[in-house]
Amino acid sequence: MELTSDMVKQAARELGADLCGIASMDRFEGAPIQQDPRQIFPGAKACIVLGFRIPRGYFRGIEEGTYFAAYSALGYGGMNLVYMPCVQRELCCFIEDREWECAPIPNMYPGATIRFDTQRHHPERSRPVREGQAAPDVMIDFRIAAFCAGLGEFGYSKVFLNPEFGPAVRYVAMLTDAPLEPDPLFAGKLCDRCMACVRECSGNAISGTETESITVAGRQIEWGKFDVTKCSIAYCGGNEAYNPFMRPEADPNNFAGKYCGKPDLDKVVGYPASYHHNPALEGARGCMRACMNHLWETKRLTRSFVNPFRTRKPWKLGPLAEADWPPSREWTKPTGIE
Ligand code: SF4
Repeated sequence: MELTSDMVKQAARELGADLCGIASMDRFEGAPIQQDPRQIFPGAKACIVLGFRIPRGYFRGIEEGTYFAAYSALGYGGMNLVYMPCVQRELCCFIEDREWECAPIPNMYPGATIRFDTQRHHPERSRPVREGQAAPDVMIDFRIAAFCAGLGEFGYSKVFLNPEFGPAVRYVAMLTDAPLEPDPLFAGKLCDRCMACVRECSGNAISGTETESITVAGRQIEWGKFDVTKCSIAYCGGNEAYNPFMRPEADPNNFAGKYCGKPDLDKVVGYPASYHHNPALEGARGCMRACMNHLWETKRLTRSFVNPFRTRKPWKLGPLAEADWPPSREWTKPTGIE
């Protein structure tokens, strides 16, 4: 039954996606086997990538330092675990109603087994079911999928930048055997290496001097060397300068079972259970908020707002004296986080 790229894109928009781009599968040539979407659906002819904006107002409470739930609940967990899968299901059904198979890849990281290394498959977790195949679960890199689908470019921070919404977009992918026409790769330029992401990253996770690069679909992509462990610790609130919930004077027993986050962070992060949708406590201070602010200020995005995002210096708390910590809360500050 007929299914064109235009039909898929129109359906995706009507079902609730903000962006839809299509990549041909040959653009993934050279991908590591554990991140290669062709391992998930060898018969796929196209990779449909949907983008969902994170509304600017989701960041407002964190930017002011007074309300942290909207970003973690709606902008992170709610999008990844609720809204985007619903749209994916509807689009899957739309495609399968036209007799083409559609395999969804939600924005979740089932390959994680090592604390703080949330994206990489660990060989102790599983083994291939056939020789030469990837071990489950294959986890594609959504930034690369979005790049292959022509939706934008990598920023220096390694966060993917879209010309309409900048870094504030979450992506999912869907594989289909329908021979859809691919979109051209993005030809514009968004990141001017202002380094705001480096300066304002609360985890000191993005190198300002060392870079990493890969080649995708014949194009070289480069970003600042990224330390995923530092980011994972900081984004959960591991840096007291950006975590107002870290209260050493509070008796942790009063909050037993009410914290979330990674095991080590349970000792240090005063992190209410209401945020357990996703422990994104510091609100992507550098790689999203500082980046968005710069892109709007320099008018690099096709979308604008009546009022500026940032009207005063971003907040930063003073350090907590280690002597203040109750002895029961043993904690060694992760190295490299300032
Ligand atoms: S999420 Fe936060 S800690 Fe991680 S890179 Fe972005 S600004 Fe840095």
